[in-house]
Amino acid sequence: MSAALQLMNVSKSYGDLKALDRIELALPDDAYISLLGPSGSGKTTLLRVIAGFEEPEQGAILFGGKRIDHIAPHNRGIGFVFQNFALFPHLSVAENIAFGLVNRELNPVTDAASVKARVRDIISLVGLTGLEDRAVTQISGGQRQRVALARTLVTEPKMVLLDEPLGALDANLRSRMRTELRAIRERCGVTFLHVTGSESEALAMGDTVLVLDRGHIAQSAHSDLLYNRPASPAVARFLNCYNLFSGSVAGDVFVSPTGRFALGGFRQPASQPAYAIRYDRVDIREQNAPVLQGEVRLEGNFVASEYSGAAINSFFALDDGRVFEVESHLSRSAPQTYVEKGRYALVWKREDALVFA
Ligand code: ADP
Ligand code: MG
Repeated sequence: MSAALQLMNVSKSYGDLKALDRIELALPDDAYISLLGPSGSGKTTLLRVIAGFEEPEQGAILFGGKRIDHIAPHNRGIGFVFQNFALFPHLSVAENIAFGLVNRELNPVTDAASVKARVRDIISLVGLTGLEDRAVTQISGGQRQRVALARTLVTEPKMVLLDEPLGALDANLRSRMRTELRAIRERCGVTFLHVTGSESEALAMGDTVLVLDRGHIAQSAHSDLLYNRPASPAVARFLNCYNLFSGSVAGDVFVSPTGRFALGGFRQPASQPAYAIRYDRVDIREQNAPVLQGEVRLEGNFVASEYSGAAINSFFALDDGRVFEVESHLSRSAPQTYVEKGRYALVWKREDALVFA
C-alpha cells in the first residue's frame, strides 16, 4: 500500500494545551477515511495542520512521498471543506464553484470556455445541475453542502479534508448525504478524510476509521474491526455501543462492583482493565428464565425503550444505579414490550464480551 498522506510524530500545542500529541498516521490513496473523536479532541486542528493552516511544532508531513510541511496551503494539492461551508453569499452556485479555479495562484484557469466546462462537469458530479444560476442563499442546506464540496473538487485536489460536513444538516438529509458523499468520492477517486463526532457516521462512511482521543490516535482500523475490537476502553466508550464495566481480572472471572462475569472472550491488552459487552449482543429474558452453559447474566429493572429505524434500544437500571443498554434488531424478532420497572435477566455469551486486561 502506498501511503498518500503520512504524518510522523506531529505535535501542535496552544500554550500549555497539547492539541495534537505525536500523531503517527498513514492514509491510503483512493479511500474514504473517517476521523472520529469527541469535541475538543483535536480533529479540526489535525485537518488544519494537514492543510497547512497551522504549523506543527515538530514532526513531518509527507504527501505522495514528498514533504509538504513548508509548502503553502494552496500549493499542497489538498482541498478543505469547511464546517460552515464558507460560501460567498453574493455569488451564484456556478460563480462560487468557479471562484477557486479562476483566482488560484498556481495555474489559474482564465479561459471562460474552459472554466464553464469544468464547472459544468463538477456541477453534474455533485448533483446540482439546473441550479447553476441560483444565489447560494436560495438553495437548501444539502445543496449548499454540495456547492462547498464542488468548489473544492473543481480545483482537482488529490485529497479532500471535510470538517464535520454533515453537522449542519437535519437528520433526514444527513443520512442521504452519507450515501451521496461516498458516491461522489468514488466517482472522483481521491481520498476523503471526513471528520465527525458521530460514531454511527464514522462507522457507516469510513473504509478506515481513525479515533482521536485528546490529541493522539487511539486506534486506526477498518470500520468492522474497530466496531468488533476497539483497542481500548476509551475507544469502546466513544463508539457508544458497549456497556463498560471497570474492575479487575481474577483468574477466569472479571470482578466489578456490579457483578462477577465468567470470562471466555477475547482479551485485549490494555493499561486499564475493563469488561465490555456490546448493546446488540445482549438478550433480554424473563427474570426466572434458565441460564445456559457459557452464558453470563445480570439483572436490571426496565426503564424505557427507544425506537430508531430497524432497532430498539432498551434501557435497564442495574442495582448500583448504572444504566445498561440493549439493542434489539427488529428483523430478528417481533418487538417485545417490557413492564416498566419490571425486573429482567440480561444475558450474553461469555465469548461475546471483550475483556481489557
Ligand atoms: P475538535 O475539532 O476535535 O473539537 P479542536 O481541534 O478544535 O477540536 O481543538 C482541540 C483543542 O485545542 C481544544 O481544547 C481547543 O480548545 C484547542 N484549540 C483549538 N484551536 C485553538 C486556538 N486557535 N487557540 C487556542 N486553543 C485552541
Ligand atoms: Mg472541530
